[in-house]
Amino acid sequence: MRYYIAAFLIVAVLIVPSVMINFPTQSVAFVNAMNQIGNQLAAVITIVRNPVTIDEVRNNYATATTPRPDGTPPRKVRILVVPGHEPTYGGAEGYGLKERHLTLELGQNLIKYLKESGRYEVFTTRDAKGWTPEFASYFKNNWDQIKEWTNAHVAETRSLQSVGTYSRVTPPVGHSKADPSVALRLYGVNKWANENDIDIAIHIHFNDYPGHGSGPGKYTGFAIYVPERQYFNSTTTNAIALSVRNRLARYNPVSNLPGESQGIVPEQDLIAIGAFNSIDAASMLTEYGYLYEQRLQDPDVRRRTLDEMAYATYLGLLDFFEPATASSVARTYDTKVLPYRWTRVLGSTDDSAEDIFALQTALVLSGDYPPKGKTLNDCPRSGSFGPCTKAALSTFQAKYQILNERDVVGEQTIGILNRIYGNPL
Ligand SMILES: [Zn+2]
Repeated sequence: MRYYIAAFLIVAVLIVPSVMINFPTQSVAFVNAMNQIGNQLAAVITIVRNPVTIDEVRNNYATATTPRPDGTPPRKVRILVVPGHEPTYGGAEGYGLKERHLTLELGQNLIKYLKESGRYEVFTTRDAKGWTPEFASYFKNNWDQIKEWTNAHVAETRSLQSVGTYSRVTPPVGHSKADPSVALRLYGVNKWANENDIDIAIHIHFNDYPGHGSGPGKYTGFAIYVPERQYFNSTTTNAIALSVRNRLARYNPVSNLPGESQGIVPEQDLIAIGAFNSIDAASMLTEYGYLYEQRLQDPDVRRRTLDEMAYATYLGLLDFFEPATASSVARTYDTKVLPYRWTRVLGSTDDSAEDIFALQTALVLSGDYPPKGKTLNDCPRSGSFGPCTKAALSTFQAKYQILNERDVVGEQTIGILNRIYGNPL
């Protein structure tokens, strides 16, 4: 059974070979294969590849603050943040939300954390005003070259197919196709990334799932799409994506959509992560959640959620580059929700969603949330005081011998919460 998500993920649509093929894992193997078939593409365009390795990107991180002997500024980790979709159209919409707005907000949070670190040189494709001047002019001035370059990658794929070296892997999850100009801009982003020596590209998306009528769908959670293992940028991307996945999974549900349930999904077709082997950078595309999830509905909880997921992404990168530092960050708070001061009793109809979201966060840290036998899909941090929160709260209260505040956060519970989670660790 195949599931089609209205993810508006952009797949290789411009030019879809009748049978698609895979790619070699080594550029040497690739060059050999090209020689064997007489290098018939040379007349079209020369494809130069320089896929980033784990050692290279880690070395860039390690020396990111070290002045160079010749006095030029240090070479930092060059990272490209790509909020999903066009500035003014496209992407999932519903529940009063537009995906392209959420991706921008999450992206801007992520950029803030990356810049604070001092080890990244951060680029982005668009901001609140639209495409950044860099990308607007790149698309405008290079449109024909982007087309040629894209077609060269496709032609190369067809040639390699003819020697029978590679195999096509069917994507686990179907995606909708983009119109050609949208697809070409995505290829343009890859081309720009190669020319600008980008180390890591991070594409940000949210999802919708059709067929659920007017109410919420049954699937929740995030999934990270990575290049299929035969792509040049697969190994480096996978290593980084695994770290990000683990950080995200601490507070956020992993998608329970069939095909996404491991949280990391290898793919050949998504342009963003290098369809036709078109990007050298480690490149991942995260579907951070479904538009109808409760954690995205209340404005305050949504703002917290987007910030949390940006921070988890940042910590995932930190884990990849500097595990010791990352664990020391975890010894303070690995969430931006805490520390938090609770001032109001909770458990009535006029509760503050932010208070409850912070309570749920504290209960994750205390090991009580989600309650025993439940997952974060069953019991997401939602800002809503339901059965999941009551069950976890009761376990928490029992540890502190609070016996007379059943199903409410009363004065005693507030006192304990503020003592433990109300101050910096
Ligand atoms: Zn999207």
